[in-house]
Amino acid sequence: MSFILHGVGVSGGIAIGHAHLAVPAALEVAHYLIPKKKINNEIKRLNNAFDVVRRELETLQANVTSGPAFAEFSAFLDLHHMILDDPMLSDAASNCITQTQCNAEWAISLQMNELLAQFEVIDDAYLRERKADVTQVVDRVLKALLGHPGHVTSPTKQSGDSILVAHDLSPADIMQYKQHQFTAFLTDLGSLTSHTAIVARSLNIPSIVALHHAREMILENDCLIVDGSQNVVIVNPDKHVLAEYRLKQSQLELEKRKLKRIKTVATITLDGTSVELFANIELPEDIEQVKESGATGIGLFRSEFLFLNRDNLPDEDEQFEAYRNVAVKMRGLPVTIRTFDLGADKQLKNTKRVEANPALGLRAIRLCLVEPQLFHTQLRAILRASHFGQVRILIPMLSSVSEVNQTLHLIENAKQSLRDEKITFNEQIPVGGMIEIPAAALCLNVFMRKLDFLSIGTNDLIQYTLAIDRVDDAVAHLYDPLHPAVLWLVSRIIHSANRAKIPVALCGEMAGDIQFTRLLLGLGLQQFSMYPAQILTVKSQVLKSHLPDITPIASRILKTEHPEKIYALLAKLNH
Ligand code: PEP
Ligand code: MG
Repeated sequence: MSFILHGVGVSGGIAIGHAHLAVPAALEVAHYLIPKKKINNEIKRLNNAFDVVRRELETLQANVTSGPAFAEFSAFLDLHHMILDDPMLSDAASNCITQTQCNAEWAISLQMNELLAQFEVIDDAYLRERKADVTQVVDRVLKALLGHPGHVTSPTKQSGDSILVAHDLSPADIMQYKQHQFTAFLTDLGSLTSHTAIVARSLNIPSIVALHHAREMILENDCLIVDGSQNVVIVNPDKHVLAEYRLKQSQLELEKRKLKRIKTVATITLDGTSVELFANIELPEDIEQVKESGATGIGLFRSEFLFLNRDNLPDEDEQFEAYRNVAVKMRGLPVTIRTFDLGADKQLKNTKRVEANPALGLRAIRLCLVEPQLFHTQLRAILRASHFGQVRILIPMLSSVSEVNQTLHLIENAKQSLRDEKITFNEQIPVGGMIEIPAAALCLNVFMRKLDFLSIGTNDLIQYTLAIDRVDDAVAHLYDPLHPAVLWLVSRIIHSANRAKIPVALCGEMAGDIQFTRLLLGLGLQQFSMYPAQILTVKSQVLKSHLPDITPIASRILKTEHPEKIYALLAKLNH
């Protein structure tokens, strides 16, 4: 029988293949009693299984040494290590074996349920989401106890067209895809911002999450079409649909190959307007992808990733090396280093700060201003790196003029300390601000008077304008870049900056989403910064765009309040 499932596409493209179902080990757990004299052996068996999983995680960690997903992978693997070492899991399961004489599988499953119940009452949505990590770690331990080779079993026929269908997957599992050569994956759980989605995007294979009942409804070896861009899975399509999608798939392949040809072409619209396409990076290792994309600079270096997944903080020299490395490799092209945006969902290890609402708490520049020594170290490192390339400083989460003044004062202090030590740096280093809080967008003049450039962070601007927590999947459907209030703010920022001749870029996810390229061009945007893999796609759209045609439609969109009319006009714009 043919049917269609709808989910959330986290990575575009089309895959056609056969289903391979991932079996969660928890489903196979039996309960039996252990004779008293064998209890110690049973505990040993459990400990051995923990050791096996520890080694599995270490191997994964050793295999992930670079690439854009490095930081995320390391974070997940660290988290899984922590869960594995947590006495709430291991010791409690051993005690359970001793006290109730149950088998190791049963003990660890009981303990998992205990932990999951505790997570359930946590208020923080991000922490609640970590339930999935506990399940994934226990699943690995169970597989080790049951003697399975690894988490993901190989499809019987490794035909190269297998599509993995799972209830849930950990990022570490996805890493194993590379060896298994799955062409797509589907999961019942997950959201656009889940760990799995972030990592999947970097692998560049079509993937759809939040399918709810896919694991139950799809059978092993079913023929599947996964359309990551349209968010659909077609199960057992008829031959006409299959033929149509095969055609679409080969067209997409051709498109991808053709795109490479425009890598070195200047990004100019049909009417001759020059557009800058910059890359967003998290770590210096990402530069290789940036080079492949033909980006003409780094629009956003999320420097806080240097601070994550570690017990100590990077000192000035380590940070300097990282920034210098990027500056040198970009050979004189702009490198915009955002000072660390820690807090909210990116906490330093071992910080125990409990905030009622971390997204509205001590985050980014607010944290820098209460930890001036930490900030001073980073500023000195960035300033030193400015001697080796076209480095710019970008300040996140500014909301008031007093924050700008304090920041500029601290930058001046850092400069003076270098002058005193006769260390060279670019005295004229540009300092910009991220406009991602509505208050900053509404009082832009004061920011423009004091800063050299602006960068619009739509991820947060949307979150704060619409009061939607960007990591809470329960409100993900309300996260709307086309909301008239969002468009009005974005347009106002671009317009004001252009009029004042202050360079303005947009570095949120909107910049890499091709459906918004023309709209943003029509609003007057000429600098986009995005995930490197998207640059050529956006470039091709820019090359085909004619501003005199676009601008009037973009203006009409701005004056429209009804979503249906906005969508209709957007379709016209992208026609
Ligand atoms: C943004 O908020 O749009 C942005 C680019 O910054 P981040 O996603 O790192 O918060
Ligand atoms: Mg932001």
